[in-house]
Amino acid sequence: MKRPIISFAQDTVGDWLAQLSCGHTQHVRHQPPFQSRLWATTEEGRQSKLGQTLDCPYCERLELPEHFVPFHQTPEFTESTGPAGLQKDHTTKPGVWAKIWVTEGALRYHLDGLNQRFDLAPGTVGVVVPEVLHHVEPLGQVRFSVEFYKAPE
Ligand SMILES: [Zn+2]
Repeated sequence: MKRPIISFAQDTVGDWLAQLSCGHTQHVRHQPPFQSRLWATTEEGRQSKLGQTLDCPYCERLELPEHFVPFHQTPEFTESTGPAGLQKDHTTKPGVWAKIWVTEGALRYHLDGLNQRFDLAPGTVGVVVPEVLHHVEPLGQVRFSVEFYKAPE
């Protein structure tokens, strides 16, 4: 999945990492002849790459960035009290991840943007990926809530 570069940082050994809008990072090493990224070695070069996209395999694998923190939890919904919007295709904002927690019953989680589908039940958490279309479908009686995550301040 393509994600724009929002900033750069150095790892503990001084190699440059591109920080992507999803919260994941990726090394952008200049290691000729294997990887030629002369631009990564200068401030000017790095600035010129802001906004360009890189493929993020972590997003495709639904990996919520480890350092992200919860900032909002919805009330518990049921098959009849959940906001109608949850059952239509929608997305979260850039950089906003979520977990769908089912406490009772079953909920089908359609991750339409990635052509995947999961049946959630207590003990099975659904991961919502930023900006990827998804919706939920109650399978009979269900109780669930959604917990949102973002980068720490
Ligand atoms: Zn990502």
